Amino acid sequence: MHSSQRDFHRVIAIDGPAASGKSSVARELARRLGFVYVNSGAIYRAITWYILEKGIHTEDLARLAQALASAAVTSCLRDGESRILIDNVDPADRLRDDRVNESVARVSRLPVVREIVAQKLHDRACSDDLVVEGRDIGSVVFPETPYKFYVDASPEVRLQRRAAQGERDEIALRDQADSSRPVSPLVIAKDAHVIDTSYLTVEKVVQEILARLKETGLRI
Ligand code: C5P
Repeated sequence: MHSSQRDFHRVIAIDGPAASGKSSVARELARRLGFVYVNSGAIYRAITWYILEKGIHTEDLARLAQALASAAVTSCLRDGESRILIDNVDPADRLRDDRVNESVARVSRLPVVREIVAQKLHDRACSDDLVVEGRDIGSVVFPETPYKFYVDASPEVRLQRRAAQGERDEIALRDQADSSRPVSPLVIAKDAHVIDTSYLTVEKVVQEILARLKETGLRI
């Protein structure tokens, strides 16, 4: 179903590449506004974890589709954040494992997977005001929202941020895969407000977004 056919609450879309500062900003923004925070990357990661856990090769599309068709993908709210459960398991502490980092971009380019995630996001938007972070939130999942932001940072700063988190994550490879895939690539939505976070604190970015939201007419 196209998103415009459904009655959504307010959605603030925060898109951008890996380690651009999306998560910290989106989480803080949601807290200030009393909106639910949704990390769409975490849903792609949870699905990737599930497929790997089942021992399914990410190129085995038939088995993958079959496994996902029978999986119960549900979400729940905890501390103002949407969490994803698959077959009643919350894989939150496995989502940043090396094997998930390595496979998530391959899994998330598949239309069957994107359909599931978009559906979950649409369902959640039917019941709550949301701040959603991702790659295609403003461009594809919620194109009607007037509240779109694209956050970026220089490649050097993004690499430093990941290193500071102690993660082995080939962000350049993921960015390349995410930007060049045919379905829902990472793009700057034409009506998005772009913020370079390289030399800004989270607080500064949140302030800039709040100011912009007021200008755009969001009643805060
Ligand atoms: O945001 P994060 O880096 O955790 O996202 C992990 C991966 O999930 C991305 O590299 C991308 O492949 C995929 N993703 C996506 N669309 C989104 C959010 C994430 O394809 N809206």
